[in-house]
Amino acid sequence: METLLEDLLRTAEKETAKIAEKALEGKRITEEEAVKLFKSDNLTLLGMVAEYINRKKNGMKAYFIVNRQINPTNVCMYQCDFCAFGVTRSDPKAYEMSLEEILRKVEETYRAGGREVHIVGGIPSHWDYSRYVEIVRVIKLRFPDIVVKAWTAVEIHHMAKISGKSYEDVLLELKEAGLDAIPGGGAEIFSERVRRIIAPYKAKAEEYLEVHRTAHRLGIPTNATMLYGHVETLEERVDHMARIRELQDETGGFQVFIPLAYWPEGTRLGGRRTSSVDDLKTVAVSRIFLDNFDHIKAYWVTLGEKVAQVALNFGADDLDGTIEEERIVHAAGTKSAYGHSVDRLVNLIRKAGKVPVERDTFYRVVRVYEGDA
Ligand code: SF4
Repeated sequence: METLLEDLLRTAEKETAKIAEKALEGKRITEEEAVKLFKSDNLTLLGMVAEYINRKKNGMKAYFIVNRQINPTNVCMYQCDFCAFGVTRSDPKAYEMSLEEILRKVEETYRAGGREVHIVGGIPSHWDYSRYVEIVRVIKLRFPDIVVKAWTAVEIHHMAKISGKSYEDVLLELKEAGLDAIPGGGAEIFSERVRRIIAPYKAKAEEYLEVHRTAHRLGIPTNATMLYGHVETLEERVDHMARIRELQDETGGFQVFIPLAYWPEGTRLGGRRTSSVDDLKTVAVSRIFLDNFDHIKAYWVTLGEKVAQVALNFGADDLDGTIEEERIVHAAGTKSAYGHSVDRLVNLIRKAGKVPVERDTFYRVVRVYEGDA
């Protein structure tokens, strides 16, 4: 790998090579330098540099988890223009799961050896605060071994608003009910200009970051995301990552960064799907720029299995999980499966030349899949 990297550096455009060398020496690159990397056409070099950094952090390991996504409702008062999942209550596609239905799904996952439920949904105006807490409490009471990773910062901000409580009080109550971790959804792109266009009503960047800051202070680990490929500029993409990097410097509470490719089908915003080059470049630049993150996820649902597999050699070290029932990105047209078996994920990782490692929510190793079979 080193020899190939040296050859690539020798033949690369001077400015790109200089930034790449800086990153390879373990020095932090600036926002301006990250934008230059995004603008570079040298995808091979970016991928190699990102993968070099990844291997220093994670060796040849590539992670996945046996989990299930549960989206309790798609009814949402915010109607963000980039989202094809959230609908009004009167929409024929609207649904709301009962507590029994949610518990049935958790039970299926538990029986299949699942370790985590990932719960996010729309924001229905008719739900009261206690319903969010109740969902967590009931799951944890019945399945104490299952990790409950639930409610995005946008949902927690909403809970604070309708209950009149602070973020801290909401998070403490959720934690007491059994909340173990918080997913990264709702970040989109932090730029005010972009939020005004794609999601004018949901929590603002500062509110998203403050929920995560508070969670970290209370010992609740969280994930960070970035939805890219719609109306944002490359500078706005990098500004987004810079704000996440800054909070990680302050708290160290983020577990993983997840770049999410935008899917336009069925959205009011429309537009085009991201290219595979853009997807791989975004994974690579994320790995290079976010030097204080241990993990970068190639989320197979938005990238598609094939690009996600390649991304495991472009700086990513995690494919997410079996998921079982993803609805949000499927509403926007992804052709990925709704879920994958463990065998399928293990195979995808092996064929990428990596060692499959089943993890728990907190990146503790559950099982290493050594050998061929
Ligand atoms: S992105 Fe979230 S908040 Fe916005 S409409 Fe979709 S479900 Fe609702």
